[in-house]
Amino acid sequence: MPEVKESESVAIIGGGAVGLAIARELSQNGYEVFLFEQAEHFGSAQSTRNSGVIHAGMYYQPNSLKAKLCVQGRKMLYEFCQEYHVPFFKTGKIIVTQNAEEERKIDFYLVRGWANGVEGLRKISCNELKELEPNIEGYSALYSPETGIVDATEYIRALAHLADNAGAQLFCNKKAVEICARDSGFELRIADTRMPEDKQEIESMEFDWLINSAGVYADEIAAMVNSENKNRWHVIPVRGEYCKYYFSKRPELAIRRCVYGLPEELRTRDGTLVSGLGVHLVPVLEHMRGKYCLSDSVLVGPTMKAIFQKDDYKIDRYPESYFLERARLLLPQLRLDDLHLDYAGIRSELRESSDFLIQRDTGHSRCIHLLGIRSPGLTASLAIARFVKENFLQVAI
Ligand SMILES: Cc1cc2nc3c(=O)[nH]c(=O)nc-3n(C[C@H](O)[C@H](O)[C@H](O)COP(=O)(O)OP(=O)(O)OC[C@H]3O[C@@H](n4cnc5c(N)ncnc54)[C@H](O)[C@@H]3O)c2cc1C
Repeated sequence: MPEVKESESVAIIGGGAVGLAIARELSQNGYEVFLFEQAEHFGSAQSTRNSGVIHAGMYYQPNSLKAKLCVQGRKMLYEFCQEYHVPFFKTGKIIVTQNAEEERKIDFYLVRGWANGVEGLRKISCNELKELEPNIEGYSALYSPETGIVDATEYIRALAHLADNAGAQLFCNKKAVEICARDSGFELRIADTRMPEDKQEIESMEFDWLINSAGVYADEIAAMVNSENKNRWHVIPVRGEYCKYYFSKRPELAIRRCVYGLPEELRTRDGTLVSGLGVHLVPVLEHMRGKYCLSDSVLVGPTMKAIFQKDDYKIDRYPESYFLERARLLLPQLRLDDLHLDYAGIRSELRESSDFLIQRDTGHSRCIHLLGIRSPGLTASLAIARFVKENFLQVAI
């Protein structure tokens, strides 16, 4: 396999949490890094349109990349947040069951969590659940003390700042529109997205290495690199919508932890089975007197809907009543007029694998593709970056 030499350049397509974490990891280790993000701001796709939950790691198949990189990434993310003053809060989490049958299902995640090395996981009774979260209704629960929340916008800012300080060249409003793979590297054609499409200036740049971290568009970038990838990988956009409620005048709606029901599944039009964590309740951070704490608002969501366009955040959104129906199972006092529609995010589901897929291009070994980096991709981002550097980009001696 080819090895990177220090004078060689690495282009990263995509300035989400993963692309930026890779840019930081590589630039801090002496690589010459260039990152291109098509949007006006870094992280404005999946990376800031999510639940902001730092997942503990009990959902994922043992030994999968998701399991390993989530557990490792969670620890790295907590340390990163401490060191660089990114707001976070280790809230803990409860997965609530509604009856004996659901309680049996929770054993599956308990055992998986143990296999994945998730610390402190345990089942709790209805009484203990009431002690932890008096407003939540349930039969029993799985308690995860290591789960937390992070301010994703501040995390993105910190990653970009650190990569920039380490010498990475980071560009917004720059879209990779064509890629020509050569024996010795890649020619990227980059459009300036500040102009209308027919007036966009296109510049050509050459790089020795290419990292495809384009989220929901990663299948299209892969097909630009190598036409054989066109039929190999398909990213299916699945939208997740959110509502919010405020409990300052309704203390019976207050929660202190992330509150989930059991995971759900969705069958998309092409028959792909997509799993999600179900509509959940997540406390929101706020800044008060120089300190971060939990605010009086709670995020409710995300829903799951397969959509046609990868940038469709709006068409046919669910009404508040849809959220109410689901959230009320956990929080019976919630009313329709408590809920306000909020943002939506688009998951990058990969038809071909439910795991993260990180691999070299089959025809061009100096290109590394990252596909299907959906949840827990935010949690895992620092570990994904380390994994890419250690497994694909060791510097030649
Ligand atoms: C609704 C929802 C809830 C989630 N909740 C959680 C959670 O609670 N915890 C968790 O750990 N994870 C969660 N996730 C997953 C997490 O958000 C993602 O795994 C993570 O943000 C992926 O980061 P990324 O950098 O790979 O992708 P993205 O953030 O999507 O970044 C990819 C970037 O590539 C850019 N790009 C694409 N094509 C081009 C091009 N041609 N040229 C230049 N730039 C391009 C895009 O504009 C985009 O900014 C959630 C995701 C969603 C959608």
